[in-house]
Amino acid sequence: MILTDPVASIPKIGPAVTKLLSRYDINTIEDLLLYLPYKYLDFTKFTTIKDIIPGEIVTVRGTIKTIQSRFSFKTRKALCEAIISDTTGSLKVTWFNQSYLAKTLASGDEVLLSGKVEMYKGLQLLNPVHEKITQEMIHTGRLVPVYTLPDGLYNRTFRGYVNQILGLTNQLEDIIPPNIRNEYSILPLADAIKQLHFPESNELLEKSKLRMIFEEVFVQQLAVQKHVELLEQLSAPSIPGNIELTKEFIAKLPFTLTNAQKKGVWQIFKDLEFKHPMNRLLQGDVGSGKTIVALLAALSVIDAGYQVALLAPTEILARQHYGNFLKYLTYFKKSKYHHIGLLTRNFHELQGKTVPKKKLHEQVAKGTVTILIGTHAVLQETVAFKKLALVIIDEQHRFGVEQRAKLIRVSEKTSNTFYPHLLSMSATPIPRTLALSFYSDLAISTLDELPKGRQEIKTSVITEISRNRAYEFIAKEVTAGRQAFIITPLVEESEKLQFKSVKAEYERLKSEIFPTLKVGLLHGKMKGIEKDSTMKAFSDKEFDILVATSVIEIGIDIPNASVIVIEGSERFGLAQLHQLRGRVGRGADASYCLLFAETQDRETLARLQFFASCTDGFKLAEMDLKTRGFGSLFGNRQTGFDFKFGKYLSLHVLELAKKAVRTFREQHTLEEFPKLREKVEPLVEQVHLE
Ligand code: ADP
Ligand code: MG
Repeated sequence: MILTDPVASIPKIGPAVTKLLSRYDINTIEDLLLYLPYKYLDFTKFTTIKDIIPGEIVTVRGTIKTIQSRFSFKTRKALCEAIISDTTGSLKVTWFNQSYLAKTLASGDEVLLSGKVEMYKGLQLLNPVHEKITQEMIHTGRLVPVYTLPDGLYNRTFRGYVNQILGLTNQLEDIIPPNIRNEYSILPLADAIKQLHFPESNELLEKSKLRMIFEEVFVQQLAVQKHVELLEQLSAPSIPGNIELTKEFIAKLPFTLTNAQKKGVWQIFKDLEFKHPMNRLLQGDVGSGKTIVALLAALSVIDAGYQVALLAPTEILARQHYGNFLKYLTYFKKSKYHHIGLLTRNFHELQGKTVPKKKLHEQVAKGTVTILIGTHAVLQETVAFKKLALVIIDEQHRFGVEQRAKLIRVSEKTSNTFYPHLLSMSATPIPRTLALSFYSDLAISTLDELPKGRQEIKTSVITEISRNRAYEFIAKEVTAGRQAFIITPLVEESEKLQFKSVKAEYERLKSEIFPTLKVGLLHGKMKGIEKDSTMKAFSDKEFDILVATSVIEIGIDIPNASVIVIEGSERFGLAQLHQLRGRVGRGADASYCLLFAETQDRETLARLQFFASCTDGFKLAEMDLKTRGFGSLFGNRQTGFDFKFGKYLSLHVLELAKKAVRTFREQHTLEEFPKLREKVEPLVEQVHLE
């Protein structure tokens, strides 16, 4: 067998399993080897029967004395009951709904059983994981891998498949140069993969996790270095900030800029004047006023005779920006700023009027459209500009060089000899330490000040006893004409379970709690268009309450929403909670964030209390980084880092990889390592340099 063989070539994998696996993109042997557990059960410690204590999770090694199945009329369940013994005593074992076990296991079998000890008519082991003792234990008596699997496929079976092909890890290519591996004690890839499936010890497991993320950071840092070199070689138009114009515009705004906004504008002006492409991130909490800063930058660029593109992640957001730009620019009667286009999958407009798509494209190509606003996908793929000098990307959660590379492709469709400046905007705070070490190719402006007069969002942690009061409160807000979000807990195990949970909560709220109100539903399984139209309906007040998973994180503006309830809030990172909280508080009235937790754990509740008392996204992100590591920083889907093994990221790996990159660059060039180069280069993208 070789790595590229289909999974069907593994013994015992038939068409049904092949189909299930393909749903998780596991098609080849290699895919299967690289599909790693999401957690491990520690079944390494054996307990002798005389030492077991109720309530504990134990692994017992013994011999089956008796085993039989029966039906319990009392509980209406099929039971399988056994007695096992070791040299110190014997113990009752009960399995529910697994009567087949009486056929798999027989008296006399030596087994390992891992599970919970319960006190019920004497001590007994309840629903333990079982395994007959052989040379090679994969289900018990060790660190046991647990995989996220499609419904219908069991961990027990899956472990068996993996175990059969573990030897093939040796065929995996290791792209980290051997001397770097030696110098930084990085495990060879094959060893790491074996350990990640069936760890021999916690220590080796940790080293293996480190190995996986190290490779990704190493590649990313090499790409960042290359990118810095590349930007220095590319030319961009030097555009001086137009101070007169800026002042004139600011004077017409109905508010004054915050100092942070002024500073941001000034920093961008400096960059635009430089002959090489700007690569700047404008980060600031929701509501900190990033749009105006971007608009001011755009004005100077247009005034110098160039075009600007503004990319938003969703159609609604694109339309929102479009509306705002049209509105702002009516304060300002100079005609050349007035050619604003909107291009998304469903909308093609110019100056507030629908025009044929073709015409919009033509006007952009001719250069008469000065600002084109649209969704990432549409603008990046289809549009040719005449003189595109500034690209603004809103709600950008990925600041990697890949994003930049895509832009370079946009500008290559034009006949220009220059590349556009790039301004990314994000409400996802990156702690400073991290930003500096991680994105050394990125300049950062931070809006760390909210405009005056903003209402603080009142946040409280709610106990179950007060649940009904919380619902009454929501009903009251709705009666007063406001709207509410209710966010259901994060379910990491599977999308299906996540869906089930949000659906059930939606049904419950709709029929039992708020039967007279209009309740909507939004979840991750919905298509982009469906999500958009649901959000639009909510924005148009077609619902009073929107029940949603955390997919609503993207920066949508519903000023009328005044309450957000977050269920199972302890499952989210603080930075992510902060993003969710930012969905309210966008209007003039007081807003509320109510947190429910599914735990009484003191430390967890203290963490939530800290969140309730802190409104500074950067502080929260730092706190996350310290207490929960990187993985929690950006939530699980919306990882700010495009890393497969992002959850293993740590400051330590970051430092290690940075040092390793330094060593590498002193001793080698990428040309010596074609496989490594193959990974780095797509990130930077080769550009033809004139
Ligand atoms: P975000 O940073 O979340 O993208 P926006 O740019 O959408 O924030 O700004 C949020 C709201 O605040 C907008 O309605 C905007 O007009 C307003 N705003 C921006 N700057 C100021 C300011 N300095 N003072 C008062 N309101 C402001
Ligand atoms: Mg915004």
